[in-house]
Amino acid sequence: MTKDVEVLVVGAGLGGLSATLFLALHGVDVLTVERHASTAIHPRASGQNYRTMELFRFAGIDADVLTASGRASQGLRITVASSLGGQVFHQLMEDGDDAFMSPATSMRHGMAGQEVVEPIMLARAEKSGARVEFRTELVSFETDEDGVTALLRHRDTGEETTVRARYLVAADGGRSPVRERLGIETTGPGIIGHNVGVVFEADLGDRLKPAVTDLYYLQNPEFTAGFCNTDIPGRFVFSPDYYPEKGEKAEDFTPERLIGMIRTATDLPELEPVLHWIGPWEIGAQVATTFRAGRVFLAGDAAKITPPTGGQGGNTAVGDGHDLAWKLAAVLRGEAGDGLLDTYDAERRPIATMIVDTSLHNMKQRLRPDLDVSGLTPPADPYAAMLGFRYASTAVLAEDDSDERTENPLEPTGRPGFRAPDVAIGVDGTDRSTVDLLGHGWVLLAASGGEAWRSAAADSYVEIACHVEGTDFTGPGFAVRYGLEPGGATLVRPDGMVAWRAKGPVEDPVGTLRDVLARVLSR
Ligand SMILES: Cc1cc2nc3c(=O)[nH]c(=O)nc-3n(C[C@H](O)[C@H](O)[C@H](O)COP(=O)(O)OP(=O)(O)OC[C@H]3O[C@@H](n4cnc5c(N)ncnc54)[C@H](O)[C@@H]3O)c2cc1C
Repeated sequence: MTKDVEVLVVGAGLGGLSATLFLALHGVDVLTVERHASTAIHPRASGQNYRTMELFRFAGIDADVLTASGRASQGLRITVASSLGGQVFHQLMEDGDDAFMSPATSMRHGMAGQEVVEPIMLARAEKSGARVEFRTELVSFETDEDGVTALLRHRDTGEETTVRARYLVAADGGRSPVRERLGIETTGPGIIGHNVGVVFEADLGDRLKPAVTDLYYLQNPEFTAGFCNTDIPGRFVFSPDYYPEKGEKAEDFTPERLIGMIRTATDLPELEPVLHWIGPWEIGAQVATTFRAGRVFLAGDAAKITPPTGGQGGNTAVGDGHDLAWKLAAVLRGEAGDGLLDTYDAERRPIATMIVDTSLHNMKQRLRPDLDVSGLTPPADPYAAMLGFRYASTAVLAEDDSDERTENPLEPTGRPGFRAPDVAIGVDGTDRSTVDLLGHGWVLLAASGGEAWRSAAADSYVEIACHVEGTDFTGPGFAVRYGLEPGGATLVRPDGMVAWRAKGPVEDPVGTLRDVLARVLSR
């Protein structure tokens, strides 16, 4: 039996589910296969940064994700110490430290774990028409000029199905069999650490703050380890490092030994933790040399693995899936040329490198003073990397040839390639944000006096929503933040990134907009 779909996604982790969700929201016929029986059952990636929450707002799931975390606050405290009650070496972040970011975003940081976020994404994707088949694996695939032929197998019944897809998204994790099969190499140090993850329950008293995400990097004379609370009160994750080069093995970490280490880590020698799950995992740092091979795209950990010091692996996986989705949808609808798909690599791979390198610098500071970080790009400011990142590709008409990676998100410039500033506006007497106008398709935001842009948007072959200041919305800070004079306009892509702007009025808005779209959509 052969099934036809527009896009086949392999893997239903954060990367695959993001691609699935946003493809479905764009009306694309998408089938996703996942070899596990369900979405994640362990917390792993906890925390959705402001950009991820913005993407979740576009999908209408931001409120669900916020409330999914049982914690009273969305705050994050990060401490480097010898033990939970021991010497503090660095207080990297305190709950509330990020309050200064509110002028840059109307989003709240999410703190939910992966095991609660993935079901929310899955439910929204399925409601939007996506099909997600669990216990189903990709066995093999062949690509040709027009598409991909994939062989799937159900892991319980053994039933095999052939799927014919126009495109394949490989969100099949860090070891990515699809990447391997395509022979795509990776750069970076690769595996740089080995850990044993332990999920356990215990009464730690006031050792950790239950209301916030309380993350410790422990540099104890006996071990180095991560230690964090979870969304479930009384449940924690402890994750000691081990060193195979010294002859250590994951199996050496017996439950008895781990209980002893947890007692040392908590300074509670009588503690009786109940261990729920023990499993080894590797810390890696690598970026694929290309995120695209013809009709196949790598997303999430398949495209790059980042050390967890920075908490961006899951966030960038969501970002990859989102970026790919609107571009694939535009090409499948016939609105864009194939060149738009090349911009996925051009835009997301530099972000991946910035995130991986920054996380390696963090790792050196927090856990591994011996780590060699020479030759890496400099660390990026974490808030600039989240909200001030820049895309440079043919899907953006840049105003200058600067090679800056980020801008200060507190002072957004509204330049093409950067995120459309989140500005407070009023719509029909209600307090809103520009973010509420974005994320569902192309948007033209015109400054007051820019009524001519309305007919230009209406005349376009691509659907463009046009909002004119003074008529459709009010916002004293809008024009300044977007760098517009009266009569100017900014074209915002479906991902909320600025594609182009006319700072002031132009002679021929219809022809200008048509020309701009043809260029950014590679037509
Ligand atoms: C302990 C730990 C803590 C972390 N903390 C954070 C954090 O705080 N913040 C953060 O942002 N990130 C964090 N991360 C990273 C984050 O979990 C990953 O970056 C993210 O889950 C990557 O998602 P993914 O969808 O790309 O890959 P995965 O989640 O690995 O998903 C890949 C999926 O593909 C499936 N698959 C593979 N091959 C096939 C096949 N042939 N057929 C069908 N299915 C297949 C697998 O079963 C798997 O479910 C952490 C990771 C770990 C291990």
